[in-house]
Amino acid sequence: MIDWLRRPPFARTGRAATPAEPARPEPRRTVSVGGRDLPLVVRKLRQAQRMTLRLAPDGREVRVSIPAWGRVGEAEAFARDRSDWLARQLATVAAPSLVEPGATLPYRGEALVVNWQATARRTPVLDDGAIVVGGPLDGLSRRLQRWLEADAKRLFADDLAHYCTQAREDVPPLGLSRAQRRWGSCAADGTIRVNWRLVMAPDFVRRSVVAHEVAHLAHFDHSPAFHAHLDRVFEGDIAAANRWLKRSGRSLYQPFG
Ligand SMILES: [Zn+2]
Repeated sequence: MIDWLRRPPFARTGRAATPAEPARPEPRRTVSVGGRDLPLVVRKLRQAQRMTLRLAPDGREVRVSIPAWGRVGEAEAFARDRSDWLARQLATVAAPSLVEPGATLPYRGEALVVNWQATARRTPVLDDGAIVVGGPLDGLSRRLQRWLEADAKRLFADDLAHYCTQAREDVPPLGLSRAQRRWGSCAADGTIRVNWRLVMAPDFVRRSVVAHEVAHLAHFDHSPAFHAHLDRVFEGDIAAANRWLKRSGRSLYQPFG
């Protein structure tokens, strides 16, 4: 029933020109978001318990997943009713700006100015609200990203060791993730992966994600037991961290995409 959603958006034009295949009105569903009509993609997921709305990471389309018994019309209404929320999300999704001299870069919740100096060292250095970096301008963005990723790995490793002590777990293997949507994951073999972009978020937000994944070492679900365990493991305000991710998480995709 949802096959039509997977057809290319302009398939109808081509089909209408073929007399053997009469032009059928094919609904191309859209949602008006901030004055733009975005394609609406509805997906039925057998395991879904409720409707989930999100904007594609690049802002190209609106996606709703619904339970197998859900109706596409309901998904449409669900998305339309939340067009203000979608518009706010869309506002934070611009084409990733290339990080250049004078740009600000979020780092552990602070906005740092990229202070490029031809004579400075290639390896970035933090200096009083600025990141001082030298080397060729070409590839500056890549260099800054590599530096942030290395810093992320160091911070995550510290966080992981800390929360494993709190949770009385052995420290599992740690990996950086470059996922477009997920902040962290805990594989069945215990490997924990954390999205490198969290190095740009405030410390308590980054740490909450690591604590969340550590709590999964004991509870591989989101049961009340998991949340109780997480509350014991994490010293901060989990709800506040989750709110931050919901509201501002997308902004972490701004500098490097
Ligand atoms: Zn989880």
